[in-house]
Amino acid sequence: MPTFPGQIDSKLPHVGTTIFTVMSRLALEHNAINLSQGFPDFDCTKELRDLFTQAVNSGLNQYPPMAGIPILRERIAEKMRRLYAIEYDPEHEITVVPGATYGIFTAVATFIRPGDEVILFEPAYDCYQPAVDTAGGKPVYVPLEAPDYHVDWRKVHEAITPRTRMVILNTPHNPTASVLSAEDMRMLEGLLRGTDIVVVSDEVYEHIVFDGHAHQSATRFPGLAERTLFVSSFGKTFSVTGWKMGYVCAPRELTTEFRKVHQFNAFVCNAPVQYAFAEYMKDPTPYLELASFYQAKRDLFRQGIAASRFRLMPSRGTFFQCVGYEAITDERDTDLAVRLTRERGVASIPVSVFYHEPRYDKVLRFCFAKSDETLQRGAEILCKI
Ligand code: PMP
Ligand code: GLN
Repeated sequence: MPTFPGQIDSKLPHVGTTIFTVMSRLALEHNAINLSQGFPDFDCTKELRDLFTQAVNSGLNQYPPMAGIPILRERIAEKMRRLYAIEYDPEHEITVVPGATYGIFTAVATFIRPGDEVILFEPAYDCYQPAVDTAGGKPVYVPLEAPDYHVDWRKVHEAITPRTRMVILNTPHNPTASVLSAEDMRMLEGLLRGTDIVVVSDEVYEHIVFDGHAHQSATRFPGLAERTLFVSSFGKTFSVTGWKMGYVCAPRELTTEFRKVHQFNAFVCNAPVQYAFAEYMKDPTPYLELASFYQAKRDLFRQGIAASRFRLMPSRGTFFQCVGYEAITDERDTDLAVRLTRERGVASIPVSVFYHEPRYDKVLRFCFAKSDETLQRGAEILCKI
């Protein structure tokens, strides 16, 4: 095996393997119920699989247009109009990308120069900081406030400086399952008025908001929409996380710059998957019914562990449930997550890893995008702890 003879000045010196990979691997090793990594353990619909196969068998296998096939971009425009009453021009304002992670990374690479400040809310989904670091930007952290992980907008106001170039929002929020309200969005709108700050709004769980509430997309608020790159993922919406496809909607000026980077990065994404989604999205039912589908799973899991010693925290959106374990042990969440996987056969995600300096608040995250039987078996084990 060849070895590199020189010095490597790592751009990400503190980064190891992601917690999702670590915990899923450990779950597999110990044959544990995997409630850690966020992916469904059930398949997507047969209809969607058939559409993909048909596209492959029809020879739709060469490079599609750089921004995505036009009919899929039309469908995305229809969805944005229907849900958020906003018009995006499919030609100039919608780009299909190989996953939300890629969309976020490319947005950061497009707009962040060395020394630019990027506001992140902590706990933060794990891909934001590495994207900012790779671009030479400076992450500026605003903590979400206990116990419900709300935003203190005074702190955001204080965090904004003349060097702030970007705010990365995430609602519904991974890992805390909190959601931003219309009032939150209006606060941000007010704070950013008159600035050149760009918003990257990670809304991959846009269709998974519970208890009858409407998703407050940044695109609903004109003062935000004008500066926002809205990022979503088909993986979450249609239960095909392995297909890795998402999309970015943004004003033409922002999209033009975004595509300059995209065309030299991925250039295009998987053609047959795009044809399958375009056909599948003719019917809005699958994404309109997603919230009630996951709400039933949330309620099943919550009822299942209600009698346990874990403290249930609110789950207002996403397919995650956070729990406090202060009544059980003083261990660090990273140790407890590993021990529960090895000794009790149930895997979770320790929430401390979503902070740039770990905060041991004794919180674990469980994913309930799993079959009812798996959730019941997982809950039974948790009740014995
Ligand atoms: N953002 C958040 C908040 C997520 O939870 C995930 C994980 N699915 C992503 C982005 C990445 O989505 P994708 O798999 O489409 O890259
Ligand atoms: N978003 C998923 C989660 O939060 C995992 C995606 C990944 O493994 N990168 O669990």
